[in-house]
Amino acid sequence: MKIGVPKEIKNNESRVGMTPAGVYELVKNGHSVHVQSGAGEGSGFLDHDYKKAGAVILDTIGQVYGMNEMIVKVKEPIEEEYEMVQKGQLVFTYFHFASSEPLTKAMIKSGATCIAYETVEDEDGTLPLLTPMSEVAGRMAIQQGAKYLEKPAKGRGVLLGGVPGVAPGKVLVLGAGVVGIQAAKMAAGLGAHVTILDINMKRLRYVNDVMPPHVVTEFSNEFNIRKYIKTHDLIVGGVLLKGAKAPNLITRDMLKEMRPGTVIVDVAVDQGGCVETTRPTTHEDPIYIIDDVLHYTVANMPGAVPYTSTMALTNVTLPYVLKLANLGWEKACEMDALLKKGLNITDGKVVYKEIIEAFDWAE
Ligand code: NAD
Repeated sequence: MKIGVPKEIKNNESRVGMTPAGVYELVKNGHSVHVQSGAGEGSGFLDHDYKKAGAVILDTIGQVYGMNEMIVKVKEPIEEEYEMVQKGQLVFTYFHFASSEPLTKAMIKSGATCIAYETVEDEDGTLPLLTPMSEVAGRMAIQQGAKYLEKPAKGRGVLLGGVPGVAPGKVLVLGAGVVGIQAAKMAAGLGAHVTILDINMKRLRYVNDVMPPHVVTEFSNEFNIRKYIKTHDLIVGGVLLKGAKAPNLITRDMLKEMRPGTVIVDVAVDQGGCVETTRPTTHEDPIYIIDDVLHYTVANMPGAVPYTSTMALTNVTLPYVLKLANLGWEKACEMDALLKKGLNITDGKVVYKEIIEAFDWAE
């Protein structure tokens, strides 16, 4: 199969859909891979690296879309790309259709087959192509939180690990899912005292089993949240209710209960956030302060570490890319029902129920 890897043109997106290692595997399997010149630069991969792995380098994005049966990328096609997508072409990427009617309509019109990373499932109902980005964001939450706790960054001036003779800082993690566990692990590694809250006892039992004793689990309820926000220096929001807006676990009035310079990193910002005062920010302008509480609410945290994020993403996408290339999407989906869950649009029709419902198109 002919596979194309375009350069991402969405603002501030430095990740790329395939690494030279991925090219190497596909070429080894008899496929040809066309990479747009400069596509991997933001993630540290040069044209020369792709060529060495067996890719053909193309000059323009139009050529990449124009001459390939499958397109592998990171973000959804943006408006400039809508017309480039070809009839019958397979596009494998993050789409998040339910949040964009124009994109959905454009892909219906294109006649392409769209398999979305975010709806491919594992046996246990988890989302294997979303997990690595939550892992990145969870770990980054502590790195960013520690930075903004410094006084020149307007934080409380607390060193998370403390020093001999001075108690460590305290980190409150809301949600013991992928983001929460990675955040707790990083904070614990720095020596901070960590409290992690969830409503799922299975998750709390797991955390209690695997984490060191300075990571304490508690049930998530308003009483406990109100208690801990008064004493914790850094609060990480990692709550998710599948397919729904995140619950506002920290309301506006609670900010007054926190000490000045407390830092909130609300990773759940992409689902509306679990703090009432959360609004999305960017890497250029990542923070704002309300009632002396610093909010870090960047909606695409993994974008700041494109090398790590590209590697983490392509590690999990490559097996599916290989399957799709080796079998063709129809046979691949026929043989793998969990990959088939990723099928969102084909032949000018939306085939994923939740997307139809999102736009009120149901009859
Ligand atoms: P997950 O499903 O693994 O974990 C969510 C956890 O929240 C679950 O354990 C669930 O039981 C818990 N939860 C639900 N209600 C709760 C409550 N009232 N109190 C405490 N815990 C509660 O999800 P995840 O992969 O960890 O993702 C968390 C959020 O981070 C999602 O919104 C995701 O989209 C977002 N995210 C953001 C970025 C970014 O760049 N900002 C990157 C990756 C993920």
